[in-house]
Amino acid sequence: MVDERIVVAGAGGFIGGHLVRSLLDEQAPVVAIDMKPLDEWHQRDSRAENRRLDVSDLDACREAVAGATRVFNLAADMGGMGFIENNKALCMLSVLINTHLLMAAREHQVERYFFASSACVYPDYRQDTPDNPGLREADAYPAMPEDGYGWEKLFSERMCRHFGEDFGLATRVARYHNVYGPHGTWTGGREKAPAAICRKVVEAKRSGAREIEIWGDGEQTRSFMYVDDCVLGTRVLTGSEIDEPLNLGSSEMVTINELVDIVEEIAGVRLVRSYNLDAPKGVRGRSSDNTLISERLGWEPSITLRDGLERTYAWIHDEVAGGSAPRPRVEASVSGVRAPRRRRSTATSPGSFIKLRVLPWRVW
Ligand code: NAD
Repeated sequence: MVDERIVVAGAGGFIGGHLVRSLLDEQAPVVAIDMKPLDEWHQRDSRAENRRLDVSDLDACREAVAGATRVFNLAADMGGMGFIENNKALCMLSVLINTHLLMAAREHQVERYFFASSACVYPDYRQDTPDNPGLREADAYPAMPEDGYGWEKLFSERMCRHFGEDFGLATRVARYHNVYGPHGTWTGGREKAPAAICRKVVEAKRSGAREIEIWGDGEQTRSFMYVDDCVLGTRVLTGSEIDEPLNLGSSEMVTINELVDIVEEIAGVRLVRSYNLDAPKGVRGRSSDNTLISERLGWEPSITLRDGLERTYAWIHDEVAGGSAPRPRVEASVSGVRAPRRRRSTATSPGSFIKLRVLPWRVW
């Protein structure tokens, strides 16, 4: 049971919405903050104090953070490759959010501060082949991150570190690797690969087109983390004593073609693939090396891609059928763990989900 005042910035977005619900399920008092109008939030829960604030503004941050014991910063102007490759300045402006939230957290003597960083902090030169062995935390330096978005994340990580060292603010940083799941962005240009592929397969099935466009040659590799693993890892890391950035991602690496295979199998269709080699593709190969998180937390994300995609596909199917943009909705939360596993695979075995409350760690 958490009995303090917790601020979640970016609560109207994909991961923030899931985090808020997870905290509320533990009876934690949550102030949920986003700059979007409330009716545009991906999820909105009336148990939280829901507030519309722009936390790139210092005074708004002071107002948001007053009285808070913990702050989770998941607010950023971001999206998939199509967005971040074409909006570098907008991505970098998110530096104002973390800077001002840190300043306000320091002033209000917040006990814990969490920052959502990204695998985009890793240098291109470590991700130029599909057979990526997994990115280790130390690989972030010498720095040459994704232009725009990645530089902002790396700089903001660094600022968290120095607010800890110089001002005694306890900061925690996770480098998220490709998070997906229900209530994520699935249309409009900011969506990421799993949601985009699910949507395209649903649309092809409904229209009878039997074709799908894939960005790049489909042989680029990635790993994808289901949102329940992300929320659990975020909460466990925030409650831990680990003050260095940790990877929070799956080590189940697949090619984009293999990702499409799985979605097609779930949907029960086979589509003709056309490859758009001019579309934004990102790095050639990326996966998460989970050695450090396994050592330090005794846990790593383990919900299989197949299991997570089944839930995600079903949700996007309903959204497309409903003919709407993402809308606030409530769904049951599931958290899952299995024994740590390290491999490159197209795994299709079912996961064994278990409830958050039976986990052996302190979860904040
Ligand atoms: P999202 O876009 O769904 O949510 C971000 C939310 O932040 C949005 O609702 C947006 O309105 C809000 N926001 C932006 N600027 C704001 C401001 N000035 N004031 C208040 N709210 C503001 O993104 P997400 O997928 O939920 O990602 C959450 C965090 O995790 C982000 O920091 C993102 O960079 C990071 N991350 C996500 C992924 C992923 O795969 N989704 C991967 C790596 C890192």
